[in-house]
Amino acid sequence: MRKNIIAGNWKMNKTLAEATQFVAEVKNKIPATDQVEAIVCAPFPYLASLVEQAKGSNVKISAQNMHFEDNGAFTGEVSPVMLKDIGVSHVVLGHSERREYFAETDETVNKKAHAAFNHGLTPIICVGETLEQREANETKSLVGEQVRKALEGLSKDQVTQSIIAYEPIWAIGTGKTASSEDANEVCAHIRQVVKELTDAATAEAVIIQYGGSVKPSNVDELLAQSDIDGALVGGASLEADSFLQLVEAGA
Ligand code: PGA
Repeated sequence: MRKNIIAGNWKMNKTLAEATQFVAEVKNKIPATDQVEAIVCAPFPYLASLVEQAKGSNVKISAQNMHFEDNGAFTGEVSPVMLKDIGVSHVVLGHSERREYFAETDETVNKKAHAAFNHGLTPIICVGETLEQREANETKSLVGEQVRKALEGLSKDQVTQSIIAYEPIWAIGTGKTASSEDANEVCAHIRQVVKELTDAATAEAVIIQYGGSVKPSNVDELLAQSDIDGALVGGASLEADSFLQLVEAGA
């Protein structure tokens, strides 16, 4: 039985005071069950403070990106070594906004996935199609290819530990959610691709989240689907109340 992982992706939002207040507010209210895991994906400048704030609680702290090199002449970048050093546990890789605005590719996502595992970080690997690609019936082939490339060269054990987030780009921040059935169909396809790459046990174990306008009013239906194991949530994760409702739905 897979657990649900609810990850709040704040994107480029909040002040330090708002960020620490949020974690202070939610940290003692996360249901004490192994069935759900709560992750906050925060901007780089707040990560160290949030790790401190979350200590001793069930809230995990994630970065929203990183570079794949350990250190060196990469002005403006943050490395996996640095994230690990300050106690971050997860990192979002290949979010569609990074692919679109910051030239992230399947190749860099793959390098970053290897770098994450080399330093004991758990990657949340994002994949998803545009509206044009969906309308052209390319969703499964495109998403399948993104998953294959992202996971290339990882061991079965590493694939088992990875979190894959299926986020149709047309559903992100638009209020349009994929229907639960459509979302599940793609998540099931991703699981099938993982099975082809590894084996049945790995495919059964890997966590596959859905993301794209998830909110308290639609989360139950999404989580009830056979192949959806949680959610990567943007807008509805910014308020503590709403984030807690999403986490409770996963418990
Ligand atoms: P949204 O964002 O929930 O605001 O649609 C999801 C995401 O980009 O991860």
